Formats: sequence, C-alpha cells, structure tokens
Amino acid sequence: MSSSIIHLLPDHVANQIAAGEVVQRPASVVKELLENSVDAGATSIKLLIKDAGKTLIQVIDNGKGMNEIDARMCFERHATSKISMAEDLFNLQTKGFRGEALASIAAIAHVELKTKTEDAELGTHILMEGSQLVSQNVIVTPKGTSFLVKNLFYNIPARRKFLKSDQVELKHIVDEFERVCLAHPQIAFSLINNGSEMFVLPASNLRQRIVNVFGNKIADKLVPVEETTEILSISGFIAKPEYAKKTRGEQFFFVNDRFVKSSYLHHAVSSAFEGLLKEGVHPSYFLYLTLPPQSIDINIHPTKTEVKFDDEQALYAILRATVKHSLGQFQVVPSLDFQADMSLEVPYKLNGTESVTPTISVDANFNPFHDEPSETFQSKVLGNSHFEKSAKDFGKTSPSNTVFNSRNHVSPKWETLYAELPNNTDKILSANHLIEQDFQSVVMFENQHQDVVQSKSFQIHKKYIVCPIKTGMVVIEQRRAHQRILYENYLNRFNQNYNPSQQLLFPIRLYYSAYELEMLSQLQDYLEKIGINITEFSEDKIVVSGIPVGMNESEVSMVIDDLLSDWQSDIPKEEEHIRDRMAKSFAQSLAVKTGTILSEKEQEDLMNRLFACKTPNISPFQKPTYITMSLEELDKKFMI
Ligand code: ADP
Ligand code: MG
Repeated sequence: MSSSIIHLLPDHVANQIAAGEVVQRPASVVKELLENSVDAGATSIKLLIKDAGKTLIQVIDNGKGMNEIDARMCFERHATSKISMAEDLFNLQTKGFRGEALASIAAIAHVELKTKTEDAELGTHILMEGSQLVSQNVIVTPKGTSFLVKNLFYNIPARRKFLKSDQVELKHIVDEFERVCLAHPQIAFSLINNGSEMFVLPASNLRQRIVNVFGNKIADKLVPVEETTEILSISGFIAKPEYAKKTRGEQFFFVNDRFVKSSYLHHAVSSAFEGLLKEGVHPSYFLYLTLPPQSIDINIHPTKTEVKFDDEQALYAILRATVKHSLGQFQVVPSLDFQADMSLEVPYKLNGTESVTPTISVDANFNPFHDEPSETFQSKVLGNSHFEKSAKDFGKTSPSNTVFNSRNHVSPKWETLYAELPNNTDKILSANHLIEQDFQSVVMFENQHQDVVQSKSFQIHKKYIVCPIKTGMVVIEQRRAHQRILYENYLNRFNQNYNPSQQLLFPIRLYYSAYELEMLSQLQDYLEKIGINITEFSEDKIVVSGIPVGMNESEVSMVIDDLLSDWQSDIPKEEEHIRDRMAKSFAQSLAVKTGTILSEKEQEDLMNRLFACKTPNISPFQKPTYITMSLEELDKKFMI
C-alpha cells in the first residue's frame, strides 16, 4: 500500500497563503489596523508611516484594548471577537469579522503589539515574527492599542519586489486613510508620514471632515444630500459641478459606514449629473447609504470593498432621484447651464471668473469690427502671453522660416480702407462692404478677427491654420503646434541656470488637500526651476509669489491642478522623466484650445515658433502637428 500524501499545512504556511489575499501592499495593512481601531471604539487614532509603509506602519488608538489572553489570541487565524455564529454574518455592525487580518500580517512582517484595557493596571507587550511568538511581557502603556508593523514582506522577497514606488504606495495608503476618516468623522485621526504631519483631523461633523481632508477649496462647493425611504436612507454631500475633477479621485460611497465600490451606484449618481458636466470631468461625491444589514452582502470580496444589494434597481432609482433633487434644490442647475455654454470657448478654469462676460460666448452676433469683445477674449485666453511675451524667446530665433514665403501682412488696399475710417468700430463697414473688398476671405472666415482678412495665413474652423508655402500649402493644427512649442520651451527652462519669473504684486493662495500638498513639496524644486515660486506651504494651501514669464496669473491654478491630476498615482523616479512629464503637462494645460480664434499676428507667431522647434512635426504626445500638400497633389485633385 502506498503511503498517503495529503497532510495539513503548518499554520505559518497557511497564514502566508491567507496573507496573499488580505495583504497586497502596505495600504492593506493600514486599512485592517485602522478598522480594528474603529471597531475597538477608539475616539482618537494615529497612523504613522515610514517609507510609504515599506519600513514601518504604526497605528495607535485609545480604544478598549485587549487583555493578556486576547492579545495573544488575536494573532491566531479565525480569531475574532466580532462574530461567534454564522447568523452574525447577516447582522454585521463591525468592520472586521473574518479574524484573519492580524494572523496574515504577523505571517509576513515583524509585529509589535502594546495594549491595555481600561481596568487593567499593566498592559501586554508582544513581539511576533513570521507567525512566531518572539516574546511576551507586561508593560506600562496607556489604555488602548498600538500595532507596529515593520519590514513588510521581509520573508517573501518576490512580493516586496513587486511593491511600487514610494509615491504610489503612499497614494494607496492615503486613499485607505481617507476612506476610514470619511466614514467616521466623529473620530479624530492623524497621519504622520516620515515624521511630518500630513493630516490632523479633529473629531467633527461630516462637512468639516470633508473640508479638512480635501482642503478649503471644496468648502463652499458642497451640496447636502438627504433622503429617507423605506428601503434605505441616504445622506452626505455632492460637490457642485463646477468643482468636478479630471480624475475620479473624490468619489465615495459608504454603505453602513463601510467604504464600497460600486460602478452601478456610481452610474446612478453620474446620470443625475448628466448635462451639467463637461466632457472628461467627474463629479465628486460623499454619499452614505444606510440599509438594514440583512439586505446587503459585503462578503463577496476578500478585501470587502464590493457589495451586493437585495434590491439594486430600487436603490439606483432612489439614489439618482435624490442627487437630482439636491442639484435642483440648491439651484445648481440653472447657473450651470450657463457655464456649460461658456466652456465651448473658454478654458474651464476661466469659467465663472468675472472678467469673462456672457456676451463673449454668444458668438452669433459677433461684429468683426467691434474691437473690444474680441480683445478681451483674446487677452483672456492667450493672455498676450504665450504668443506675445514668449514670442521674444522664440519668434526672434526663427528668421521667418525658409518653409514660408516672405509674407506681407497688410496689403496697401487694406491700409487705405483703414485710413478712411479712423474709428474702425464704425458701423458703415458692414460685412457686405467687406465682401466687395475681399470676397474670398469673407467666405472663408465667419466670425473672424479682423486681422485675419488680409493675411496670407488663414484659420479655419478655429482649429487649423492654412498657409501657402513655396511647394504648395501647409495645414497646422493649432493646439498641437502650440503644445510642441510650449513643451520645448519648458524643457529648455529646466536646462537653463536662470529662469526669470514674474514676481506677483499680490501672491496667489491656492488650496490643496494634504496629499496634494505633499506631492507639491516633492515637486517644489522643479516648479522653482521653471519659474513657479512657492513661498509658503501651510496645512491647507500654498502661496505662489512668482510665475514663469509667459504664464498668466489665472492659469497657475489650472496648470498645478492638471499636474496633480496627471500625477495622481505615479511621479516617475528619474529626474529626466519628471522634467519631461512636467513639460508635457504644462504644454497640455497651456496650449491654445481648439475653438480659439487666433489673430494674424498670433498665427504668424505660432508658425514661426513651431518651425523654430527642434522637432516641429510632432506634438509632445506623438501626434502630427502639421501636414503639407504639394501643388502637384492639389493639381491632381482637379485633373478628373
Ligand atoms: P477581525 O477584525 O476580523 O475580528 P483581526 O485579525 O483584524 O480580525 O483582529 C482579531 C481580533 O483582535 C479582533 O476581533 C479584536 O478582538 C482584536 N483586536 C484587533 N485590533 C484591536 C484593537 N486595535 N483594539 C482592540 N482589539 C483589537
Ligand atoms: Mg480586523
């Protein structure tokens, strides 16, 4: 008879296997420890991390603590104080219930536990290493529990190797931290990262908690949501559409105070925002659903962020209607319709700023000879900056490139016409008159800027610039061309020793969340190099007192916001990549938008500067910036 080959795995092996499911990264440990502290009834919870949790994670709470026996027991697999019968699973009031988190963590790290209950005089001190008890002592320690987790995955090098950069791991930790903090505003939380305070959140109400986590800029953007039905109650806040973000970061659902992900519920909320948001931005929301525990099953996923509801369809309908109602009730809708219109032509950050008047967006009655509105618009969008100021850098170096014929901007005919009309706002000069003067241009250009009329380059569909060249013609995509110019410009700044920045008379205050501030502090040297001087970092804002020559004050917050959302999850490690990514991000944010009318001068600058670039033919994102068509090709098209 052959010997039997099946045997039970030793506990530490079983624990390591379980750990694979529970602990994917430092953030998983953070989540489990924070939730245990919440379950222990703590009113104050402190999280300390070093090197994005790779070296150390510590959670200190003032909860109920554990006695000597529980302190030892908590590291056993399936050891939990939270449920005792299968039925309890259907009536969960706590975060944890599986009793495997601590066993898993202790299997793959060095863990130190200090804990004491209220009525005990002395506490318990335990050291664990790879599921093995190293020591157990009595200790003087305050009521509550401290778990210290060092050298995560020390015994599974393959897992350790797969951890991402510190920035990425820190981002995951902050995500978990924020979720727990938002679920429990009545508990005080703090997060200390590498010795410095990243979050200090006093016990507060929900609104204040959201503001404390995400910064003051969200404070006046929150719209309350409140609804109670037989099936569930919904409370929380949505952020006004104008606060919508390019990244989907600030979207939170809590079901019975537990953070959950649900694309179905997300869809319900998004559809309530329909028509209020521009393309590519996402609404922010903080919604708390309370349902009878029996009607949900949070047990379908080991890390418990997914949830199954009994009556999903009803939930969807109620949620959507409730959010819609709030948007309507707080009169978000009408003011937004107006803003959505504006967005057709004005970069989104300028929306709602006072200097952009509604008349500008109503392009239909635009009189090309009425100077004022178009100039306001132009200087607002282009800020006279990228084209005029920076033209100094670029325009000069390109001696009206060989690709282009030498151009004659203002024909004599036009000059005469101009001279006869000292005041060119004069209504005599109607569109009809123009047609007689230059039929062709007028047909090609509707709503144009007056300068364009006689120029040899033409802007078509507020998107392309067409220009004759010796061999035929060139068609330039204005946005991509400008991206190329800005990209090389900003890259160059990194290589120059001195980059003048315009000092601002009134420094700009910009509000950010703690995590964003942390990222900005890491990027400060780079920002400095290209001329953004941050002179003050405080707990919720930065003060910018200098900006690069060629940038507008109104653009600073836009470029920084874009930079932060581009880099949500990965700041590259190598300096060169950081520079490259930053230059790309700036180029993308600042490039003139499709839909912007360019004057003749601006078109000319754009072309000169494009062809002065090192690689004029492709955008920083590898798309063609222009195409050419030879006369022969044109001729061929007319042969048939
Ligand atoms: P679960 O949370 O699923 O019960 P864990 O492995 O996370 O499983 O924890 C095991 C047990 O250890 C918990 O049920 C609880 O009794 C105890 N425990 C863990 N953390 C704490 C804490 N911070 N304070 C008090 N007791 C704790
Ligand atoms: Mg737990």
